[in-house]
Amino acid sequence: MSLPKYFLILLSFLVFNVQGIDAKPASLKIVTTFSILGDLVREIGKDKVVISIVGPNSDTHTYQPTPKDVREISKADLVFINGLGFEGWIHRLIESSGYKGEILEATKGVKPIMINDPGEGEVPDPHAWNDIENVKIYVRNIYEALCSMDPEEKEFYRKNYEDYLNKLQEIDDFIVSEIKKIPEKRRVIITAHDAFGYYGKRYGLRFLAPVGTSTADEPSPKAMASLIDTIKKNQIKIIFTENITNKKLIKQISEETGIEIGEEIFSDALSEEDQPGPTYLKMMRHNTDQFLKSMHLSLEKEKSSEES
Ligand SMILES: [Zn+2]
Repeated sequence: MSLPKYFLILLSFLVFNVQGIDAKPASLKIVTTFSILGDLVREIGKDKVVISIVGPNSDTHTYQPTPKDVREISKADLVFINGLGFEGWIHRLIESSGYKGEILEATKGVKPIMINDPGEGEVPDPHAWNDIENVKIYVRNIYEALCSMDPEEKEFYRKNYEDYLNKLQEIDDFIVSEIKKIPEKRRVIITAHDAFGYYGKRYGLRFLAPVGTSTADEPSPKAMASLIDTIKKNQIKIIFTENITNKKLIKQISEETGIEIGEEIFSDALSEEDQPGPTYLKMMRHNTDQFLKSMHLSLEKEKSSEES
C-alpha cells in the first residue's frame, strides 16, 4: 500500500470519528416485543427505528427468542414490553443481551382483569390492548418515555400523540354506537382463545373460546362440551379463527355444530400489509366488523325461527 492511500484511509477514519462525537445519533432505536406494540410506538415516534421481536401473524405467548433478538436488544436505546405476564421469555432474553437500559411496561397504569389460571392462581389477563381506553394509556406511556429520552423533539411527539388519540376516539365511538344496536342477549362471540376479555368488558360483549388466555393451554373435554352447548342455545352462526392460533380446533367445533367459520380475526398480532389488519386501528375496525356480522346473523336466525 502506498503512503498517500494509507494516509487517506487514516484521514477518513479521523473525520468519521470526529463527526461521531459531535453529531446527534441519527435515530433512536426502539425494540418492542410484539407487532401491536410496535405499531403504537411507530405512531408516536414516526421516523424512529422500531423493531418488533414477534412479527405479524405470530404468537407471543409461545415465542422462542432467537440469537438475532439478542443482538437487536443489545443495540436498543429503549425496550417496550406489554407486561402483565404476556412475554414470559423477555427477562431471560434481556439478561443474555447485556442490555442495561430501561424496560418500559406499556400497560403501566392499566387496571388489569384478573383471571384464574389453574396452574398459577389469580393472574392478570395480558390482552389489555383489546380495549381502546387501555391503549390510550399505552400511548401516553410511550409518549412520555420518548419525551424524556429525546426532549428536543417533545413538540413532534406531542403532535403525533394528540393526533393518534383522536383516531383512537373515533374508532372507540364507532364500536360503542354499533354494539348498542344489538340486543344484549345476542352479544355472544366465539373465538379461538380468550384474547377479548377487555373488549368484552368495555363494549358489553360475551366472548367464549375453547382455550384460555394463553394459546399454550389445552381445551378440556368439559369446556368443549359446554362451548358447543352455548353455541346451540345462543343461535350463534359464526366461529372465528385467529391469525395466531391453530385452526384445527375451530374446524372441529364447526363440524360438530354446523356453524360457519368466519373471516380470520387479529387477536394478539397485526396482519401483514396486504391483509385487513396491518395497524392497530385497522385491526380493531376489522375485528369489530366481523363481530357485528356474526351478531347480526344470530339476530336474523332468531327472527326467522320466530316466524316459522
Ligand atoms: Zn393471547
